[in-house]
Amino acid sequence: MSRLLSFFSPRLASFLPTGLKATELAQLLSPSQHSMLLSQQRATMIVNRVRLFAMLFAVLTPIWGIVDVMVFSSPLWIKLALLRVLTSAAFAALLVFYRPTGSLLDAYRAMAILFIIPTVFYIASHSLLAGYALSSLSSAVATGYAFLPFVLMAGLAIFPLCLLENILLASILLIAQGLAGYLNWSTLNWPSFAGGFWLLILIAGVTALASTSQLAFMITLVRQAIHDPLTGIFSRSSGKEILNLQWSAAQRNEQPLTLAFFDLDHFKQINDNFGHEAGDKVLQIFVAQVQKKLRASDSLLRWGGEEFLLVMPNTDLDKAECAIERMQSNGFGMRPDGTPLTASVGLAERNADQLDYYKQILALADKRMYLAKQAGRNRICAEG
Ligand code: GH3
Ligand code: MG
Ligand code: MG
Repeated sequence: MSRLLSFFSPRLASFLPTGLKATELAQLLSPSQHSMLLSQQRATMIVNRVRLFAMLFAVLTPIWGIVDVMVFSSPLWIKLALLRVLTSAAFAALLVFYRPTGSLLDAYRAMAILFIIPTVFYIASHSLLAGYALSSLSSAVATGYAFLPFVLMAGLAIFPLCLLENILLASILLIAQGLAGYLNWSTLNWPSFAGGFWLLILIAGVTALASTSQLAFMITLVRQAIHDPLTGIFSRSSGKEILNLQWSAAQRNEQPLTLAFFDLDHFKQINDNFGHEAGDKVLQIFVAQVQKKLRASDSLLRWGGEEFLLVMPNTDLDKAECAIERMQSNGFGMRPDGTPLTASVGLAERNADQLDYYKQILALADKRMYLAKQAGRNRICAEG
């Protein structure tokens, strides 16, 4: 099975125009493997798209009422107009009161509201229209009211969704359509209903393709934006965000959080004596060596040229020191002259150092790194 998968995934990935890595394919299927930053970006994008569409519909829904006035007689168009004003107000409220928070749950809720508003409008307008005998022109327009399920299904294409989310949302729409057919059982025109249902399934397929490829683009862009191209670990800007998020989580759960500030010793000499490329290679090997000893919850990020941060959630000073000593004894790789590469490390911890704000932990770890340098390099400093 795994051999079959490793045969197919690179070939499948090569079809995707976005430079998605084979290992990222699973992220297109379900959200369970999405990184914290990807989830956050995706949640923000979904809510922003919901708001964009809420704005469009808030404007378009009442405007379409002009057509109602032209084709329907007076009691009907007045009732429809009232319905349109209410619907437009609901869309406007969604636009005004819903703001992106970065939480995926909020994003799902926003999508649900965006879909529920027109569904209620659809059901209400349908039952209004059913009570009137219509002329041929007005029946043509009334048929237009039945397009809504198709619009909703196609509307899914504007969101960056994974396959699982797509299947779930499309199934809800298909079941609703099936249920509507079942409730109108006696008056149902079977061939046209079956044709419509088939069309809805086809739209669901195309939509799934559109929204998963949006997600694929997003995964690639987020990876490029948050990773340092030389070493592949998190870059400074995303590092700040990670530190901030981990800090808030530690504060919320009242857990320890340790930050290690690494600065490579006498790194400039490597560039001066062996060239910049040799220096780059040493940086890559350093990262690979540290990564071998990382826990899944730790985040390693490149803070600057030869400065790295290690964010260690739920880790106190003693445990962090042990972990870094293990890294030291495993080695950080070799300098081009054959001597071992060493680093000076400053450690700070949220509880033990009684810190209130994430920038303080950064400043303290940085200061202790300098103390480690002053004390002779190639050592860890956790106090002072
Ligand atoms: P110390 O032990 O005091 O830290 O000495 P050092 O030489 O490591 O300190 P310094 O901060 O003076 O030197 C850092 C050097 O890292 C300077 C810069 O040329 C080099 N550097 C920064 N970014 C990169 C990079 O991306 N690639 C390479 N090859 N070198 C880099
Ligand atoms: Mg430095
Ligand atoms: Mg240095």
